[in-house]
Formats: sequence, structure tokens, C-alpha cells
Amino acid sequence: MSKLNVAIDGPAGAGKSTVAKLLADKLGLLYIDTGSMYRALTWKALQLNYDFNDTAALAELSSEVMIKLITDNQNYRVFIDGEDVTGKIRQPEVSQRVSLVARIPEVRKNMVRQQQSMAASGGVVMDGRDIGTRVLPDAQAKFFLTASIEERARRRQRDLKQKGYHVPLETLMAEISQRDYIDQNRETDPLVPAEEAIIIDTTGLTINQVVEQMVQHIENVSDCK
Ligand code: C5P
Repeated sequence: MSKLNVAIDGPAGAGKSTVAKLLADKLGLLYIDTGSMYRALTWKALQLNYDFNDTAALAELSSEVMIKLITDNQNYRVFIDGEDVTGKIRQPEVSQRVSLVARIPEVRKNMVRQQQSMAASGGVVMDGRDIGTRVLPDAQAKFFLTASIEERARRRQRDLKQKGYHVPLETLMAEISQRDYIDQNRETDPLVPAEEAIIIDTTGLTINQVVEQMVQHIENVSDCK
């Protein structure tokens, strides 16, 4: 049997990365945050003063840059063209534009190809928007995490505060709603649950409760094989 791959999708702030890291640790798998790749590309485009309506230029940029993820689950680092951008890609300026970059079909093609090659030998927990539907359609376990918009904005606010950014809740709710809208309505690989995905509403659940539900499902899937 090939090594386990786990796909986790869902909207911004649904708790994907926190639970994905814990789940990867518990199962001895490698955590891969695909959103960080789209963010790194967006950061680069901001540095180079790209026009975010110029899809052809952004598509070309996506085929030129070298994105590298270094992950041992505890210490996750993101590089683009040799520069460590791990902290920089969480800046609000990046969050506000990333969905515009991620909706470009050619950009997605380039990112998906790299993501598939990272997971080719199995053993990953990958989180994103199109993992169960497009990147890893054969993943043995697929989850779709959701939560209310208020809860998601609050979580984002807490994360950003730890990183030194103070953003009002209303601003975050507006930004998340806009990002969700673009992610759900784009033509190429929009954010939708895979048919066989287990949908978990994380509103009011602790991180451990979510991880526990996932572990139980994975154990059931493994027992059935
Ligand atoms: O996961 P995160 O919120 O960091 O993702 C940032 C953005 O990257 C998303 O809002 C989405 O536009 C894009 N994304 C995507 N497909 C993925 C992962 C992220 O389109 N697999």
C-alpha cells in the first residue's frame, strides 16, 4: 500500500494549518502548507511592483521563481529565490492580494505541479483549497474544515497579534469574506469540498477535538484497507 496522504481544505482561518501540523506530528507525516507558496509568489510580485491585474505577467513570474519549503513540522520555512520570507508572507498586504494571484490558471498549474511532486512518494498532510479535488485526488483521507466567519476572523486576529500586527476584527471579516468569495468563484479549481471529504465545522471545537476526529477517521479508513 502506498504511504498515507492526507488532504485538508477549507476557507481562510478555519484552523487548517494548526490541526494539519498536529496531525502530521501524530501520524509521523510531513506537513505542507500550499497557501505559503501562493503567498510567497504574491510577496515577490509586491516587491517587484507588479500590477495585480496583469495576469500574463504574474503567470510568467510564477514560472520563473524558485519556491522552496523546508519543513520538519516544528520549524516551517518558506524561501523564494533563496530569500527566507516565512514571516513576510503573513503581512496583511500579501493576504489582501493573494487570491488575485491564486485565481490565475497558469499560476495554479505551476504550483500544483510542484505540490504533486512533493507528495509523490506519499507521507504528507497537505493543506490548501484544492488539495482533495485537484492536487491529491487519490489522497486516502480528505477533510474540509469550516467555521463561522466571526470565529475565523477572531483566530486570524490572534495569530496576527502574535506576529506583531494589530488588525481590527471588522477589517479581517471583510478581508476573509472577500478572499473566500474569490477562492470559491474562480474558474480553475475553486474552493469546494471533495465529494468524499469529511466536513468538520470547527466552531466551538478545541484543536484537540478536531485532530481527534481526524485521527479516528484515518484509523477507520486504514482498517478498511
Ligand atoms: O491558506 P492561506 O490562507 O495561507 O492561503 C492563502 C491564499 O492562497 C488563499 O486565500 C487562496 O487564494 C490561495 N490558495 C489556493 N490554493 C491552495 C492554497 C491557497 O488558491 N491550495
